[in-house]
Amino acid sequence: MCGHGHLFTHWFSMVPTCPGCGLRFRREPGMWLGSWFLNVCLAQVVVVVLLLVGVALTWPQAPGWPMFVAAVGAAVAFPVAFFPTSRTVWVAVDLIMRPAGFDDGVAPAVELEQLERYGRSKRSGGPPPG
Ligand SMILES: [Zn+2]
Repeated sequence: MCGHGHLFTHWFSMVPTCPGCGLRFRREPGMWLGSWFLNVCLAQVVVVVLLLVGVALTWPQAPGWPMFVAAVGAAVAFPVAFFPTSRTVWVAVDLIMRPAGFDDGVAPAVELEQLERYGRSKRSGGPPPG
């Protein structure tokens, strides 16, 4: 919401609130299901593209076991590597769908700045004022 970085203390450990504006990231139970879904879908796309490229490059004698091992490796490694990005992207998607309000822990000055910039909030939900 404010563009502040440093949202993770470790690869899998996200801070509970934004260090810049105070936005509470886990805004409701099940909040991270979308992040998980995004991560799994992109991992599947990576695996399918990897297999298609592997078959195309080695046609007509595609190596079964090496491609299987590469696909399984990508299916495991990609979600791990993409975890912080998927969480961050999902926070942005969630903020687009449900703009933050005062009850989300955002500092009032930041909220008012966002309200002026985008002209809407979770409470008003309507078109920009004026
Ligand atoms: Zn922030």
